[in-house]
Amino acid sequence: MDFSFSDEENILRDNVKKFLEINLKPYLNDIDKNEKIPINFFKKAGDNGIISPLIKDEYNGSGLSFIDAAIISEEIAKIDTSMATSVYYLLNTSWAYILQKYGNNKLKKELLPEIANGNKFIGISSTEPSGGSDVANIKTSGEIIDDNIIINGEKLYISGAVEAKNNHGGHLTLVKTDKNKGHKGITMVYVPADYDGIEINKLDNMGRMGISTTSIKYNNVKINKNNIIGEINRGFYYSMDGFNHARILVAAACNGLSEKILNDGIEYINNRDAFGNKLSDFESIAFEAADLRTDIEMVKLLTYKAAYLADINSNDLYLYSAMSKLRAPQISMDTVKKIMMWYGAYSYTKDAGIEKSARGIFSYLVGAEGALNIMKLIISKSVLK
Ligand SMILES: Cc1cc2nc3c(=O)[nH]c(=O)nc-3n(C[C@H](O)[C@H](O)[C@H](O)COP(=O)(O)OP(=O)(O)OC[C@H]3O[C@@H](n4cnc5c(N)ncnc54)[C@H](O)[C@@H]3O)c2cc1C
Repeated sequence: MDFSFSDEENILRDNVKKFLEINLKPYLNDIDKNEKIPINFFKKAGDNGIISPLIKDEYNGSGLSFIDAAIISEEIAKIDTSMATSVYYLLNTSWAYILQKYGNNKLKKELLPEIANGNKFIGISSTEPSGGSDVANIKTSGEIIDDNIIINGEKLYISGAVEAKNNHGGHLTLVKTDKNKGHKGITMVYVPADYDGIEINKLDNMGRMGISTTSIKYNNVKINKNNIIGEINRGFYYSMDGFNHARILVAAACNGLSEKILNDGIEYINNRDAFGNKLSDFESIAFEAADLRTDIEMVKLLTYKAAYLADINSNDLYLYSAMSKLRAPQISMDTVKKIMMWYGAYSYTKDAGIEKSARGIFSYLVGAEGALNIMKLIISKSVLK
């Protein structure tokens, strides 16, 4: 068992760090305040092969591994601690991966090079107003008529729809093609966000302001059957595969954020005077640092194991990605909360910059990429069988 990163992985991390320092860091205040990541960032990240790094060479991608993708996710979250850029990246990476794995050649040739170079965004449209966890019971319909599939219904809390509309991207969308077959009656279709009959409305979110969360209404949206991913009525399975992979990158982003916030906190307590000592001289605070460092190390190991299992196509991936998604956001929230306590009143100002991390992390506690109880459901089924 070898726990070290390869030379290539270390070089990738260094290069990503340098790239982000120059191309993302200067815009951070803007991202949270003006609710927009500069479009140039995606293009430059595309030029550097890191905006959807699992896309293969044959589609002009960089063909990196899941471990590489997790490294990039960690580094992005260390810079943009609001989580907005991480969300854009992880959706674009994991759902392009699903398109690459199950899509037909024509669709892949049309979309993947554009996603790889940062010109198009791709996301997932699954959750509906009646609920997100119970995917089998979605209501949005897909009726196949001749060469088309006609979509009617509504999705809610969908990330990146405004961005997709602005750059001619779209979402892998789950529709019911057989009402009587539960999860075996769901088909996945690539739906461009700028098609006729699509109405997108931005929600007023509490965090990760740089990427939109929206409702999407589909009113007789006519999509060519070529946009169907894989086989009709297999969409549920493709989406579960996608979530298993996306959760690795969610966890990696949370871990990157936790590490950055803890490091900043340690620097602060090493310099802050109280009662004639540094804050870090007080054992109650030093022990919190010890606990957090241990928790972060633990969940990083779990997450990189999940990434490794993805790279070797292991059947255990679903379990490890669920465990990573269960723990990483909770450890991030704990880290943010404790470091806010260390900062005292300073943490409550926007100048400190830490409150936006709390707002961002909360999205993963309440549901994004799968609610925590759903992770427990997945894990307990495996543990008890
Ligand atoms: C910021 C943000 C961005 C999002 N982006 C996307 C996106 O891009 N695409 C997309 O499709 N969705 C997206 N979602 C939606 C996300 O997938 C859902 O929030 C998630 O699936 C949970 O669905 P729900 O919110 O409807 O909660 P529900 O399914 O109604 O669940 C509510 C609560 O009940 C619990 N619960 C549900 N079932 C069980 C059970 N069987 N046992 C025990 N507890 C249970 C859940 O854990 C949760 O705490 C996003 C969500 C957020 C917050």
